[in-house]
Parts: sequence; C-alpha cells; structure tokens
Amino acid sequence: MLLEHLQRQLREREAQALRRHVRVAESPCGVYQRITRNGGDANANGQPLLTFGSNDYLGLANHPVVISALAEGAARYGAGSGASHLVSGHMRPHEILETGLAELLSPCVPHAKALFFCSGYMANIAILSALGDTKATIFADKLNHASLIDGALLARATVRRYPHENLASLTAQLEQCDTPIKLIVTDAVFSMDGDLAPLPELSALAERFDAWLIIDDAHGFGVLGPQGRGSLAHFNLCSERYIYMGTLGKAAGVAGAFVAAHPVVIDWLVQGARSYIYTTATPPAIAHALCASLQLMTGEEGELRRTHLRQLISLWRTKITALTRAQPQIAWQLTASQTAIQPLILGNNDAAMVAASQLEAHGIWVPPIRPPTVPVGTARLRVTLSAAHTPADVERLIGALSREAQVTS
Ligand SMILES: *Cc1c(COP(=O)(O)O)cnc(C)c1O
Repeated sequence: MLLEHLQRQLREREAQALRRHVRVAESPCGVYQRITRNGGDANANGQPLLTFGSNDYLGLANHPVVISALAEGAARYGAGSGASHLVSGHMRPHEILETGLAELLSPCVPHAKALFFCSGYMANIAILSALGDTKATIFADKLNHASLIDGALLARATVRRYPHENLASLTAQLEQCDTPIKLIVTDAVFSMDGDLAPLPELSALAERFDAWLIIDDAHGFGVLGPQGRGSLAHFNLCSERYIYMGTLGKAAGVAGAFVAAHPVVIDWLVQGARSYIYTTATPPAIAHALCASLQLMTGEEGELRRTHLRQLISLWRTKITALTRAQPQIAWQLTASQTAIQPLILGNNDAAMVAASQLEAHGIWVPPIRPPTVPVGTARLRVTLSAAHTPADVERLIGALSREAQVTS
C-alpha cells in the first residue's frame, strides 16, 4: 500500500515536470564542474560544465587557505566532536569561532553573543521554536525560506504571514496583535529572487510596536556591507532588537550557521533550542576552517572579491536588459535583485527544464527551480554569480541565452 501510494505520487510529479533528480559533482565546487547523473555522464562529452548554480559567492569553498585550515584542524582536534555542545562536544575552535562572529556582528547588534549551529536550517528551527512560545506572535514574509516556515510550524506561537514585503499588511497585523511578544521574521536577501528586504522600514516597525526582528541573512553574510558583515551593515542598522542568523556554507564557503543576538536571547537558545541541544556538535575542524575563511572574508581579499562580484552583477544586468530590449519576444525576466542571486523567470515548469537542458548542450549548467520552492507559474533558472567567475564566463552565458532565444523565436 505504501509503495503504491508513493509511486502514484512520483508519477504525478513526473507528469507535472516536478520530479527532482540528484546530480553528482565529480569535482570541487567551482566555476567549472564535472557533473554526472544516474551513474553516467550528464553531458555527452564528459566536459566540465561552466556552472552558475552554487552559493559560493566569494569562491572560498575551494580556497587553498581554507582547505589547509581544515586539514590542520583535523590533525589538531580529530575528525569528530564526539558529542553535543552541552555534553562534551564543544571544543576550542567552536569557542574561538563564536567569539569572532560576535565581535564581527557587534556594530549591528550591540553586545551580541553568537551561537554556532550545524546548519542554517537548524538555526532557524532553533530561533523560532525556542522563542515562539504561546506568549508570542510570529509575523512572517510569505516568501521566507522553507526553514523559517518549518520553524514557525514547530513554534507554539500564533503565526501570521504577510504578502511579500508588504509593510501596510504587516503594520495592520501588528496593530491587531494582542500577545506580549512580537517576532517579525524575514529573509534579508530572498533566496529565490535575490531582492533585499526593506530592513530599515521593518526595523522602524519593530521599534514602533516593541517587536523583535529576526533576520535570515544566508545570502547577505559575506556578500554585503563592509567586511561582508551582511545586510544590517549594508543598511547601516544597529539595534539590540535584532536576532541575526548568518550561514557559513554559502559565502563563507564551508558549513554551518550562527545566531548573533542579545546575550539573554543566546542564553535562552542554549537552554531551549532542541536543534542546538540534541545533535552532535559540528566537527571541530570545520570550525577551525571557518576561522580561516572568515579572516579572508573580512580582510582585503574579501573586499577585492566583493568588488569583482559587484562588477559581474552589473555586467550581467546591463547585458540581459539590453538583450530583452532588442528582442521583445524573449520570455525570460530579471528580478529586482542587486545581489549575486540573478534568476531569470520563465513561468512554467517545462520551459525552465527545457531552457536548462539547452544551456547544458552549450556546456553551461544553471539549475532550474520549480514549485514548491517558488510559487506556481514562476519556474526559473536560478543564475548565481560568484567572485570566482570572470567577465568572460558571464558573457558566455549571455551568448548562449541569446542564441537559444533566437532559435526558439
Ligand atoms: C540556505 C538557506 C538556509 C539554510 O542554510 P543551510 O546552512 O544550508 O542549512 C536558510 N535560509 C536561507 C534563506 C537559505 O538560503
């Protein structure tokens, strides 16, 4: 019975062009990757594909300094942590990392303490389930990341969702709210559109209604603001009301995540966040490697990489805009994004799958993204740019898109 039930659902997904397949990267995360599928080569000639699909925005995932720090961390502290943080798994590199992250975020969250998590998913679950008790209302943007949605499901708080970036709706919901604790929660950079949340306005609302602002900066940390300190620094914002979540597997190039917030908030997460307490601490070598990658990210090399990334973003947007002007029949659309996430919206699922396989025939890999990751009717090619790309790489993608647009029109 179970198998029939599942097989029926799998067939339905297939029919709607919604079935997902895992691909295997045979080479490190980088600009060129050899990618296989179902045991065979995905691309006929087995050539590495020019990829625009990772969140390794600064190109640190395969950086020699970070790799050797990982090896050194393993040599010094072993492969595994052996236990959860509260038992015996919290090791010196975890502690050094948390201190460094707290210091880095302190211009945005005064007196912040930081807590390291195995992943951003687990950090978001922790924040919402531990702070969202029956005395609280959670106000969530409808396009928030799945991990925030799941965290809200685990919380015992009242949950209200407001239309994407709609401050008037949020204001009305805050006015109606009668719980003593109010938690506004938003992606800082929306993961599938690349647009920035209106953090100054959300911040003003938090102030006005005595609410707290939970910020998921998975795509802003390392990319935006001085030293890559993130979206709050980008807007020059500072308040004790912020509960800041940054991930460490994207721009920071390794793995994990952290929450930086008021010391009382962090102390409570240590007591009450089940996804912090009931899981084995991340291997210490990862924390050691992160200390090295944060040093690169916040230093001169990080600044140069961010400048280069901004130039690529502007090149991409200028050229794609010109192309759509010149060929009005082109169906894809840019989003209002100034960040490294630069998707082309195609609409239906098939169109996105076809466009991805056409690019693959040109030796280029851009992941197609379909519902439920994005709203129905907004399937897209999620182009992400990295400081590891060259202008010539971006030109090659634009050239292939332009040729395909001419063929299909
Ligand atoms: C990737 C992502 C997460 C999850 O972070 P992981 O460390 O990959 O678990 C959370 N929020 C957003 C917006 C993300 O894009």
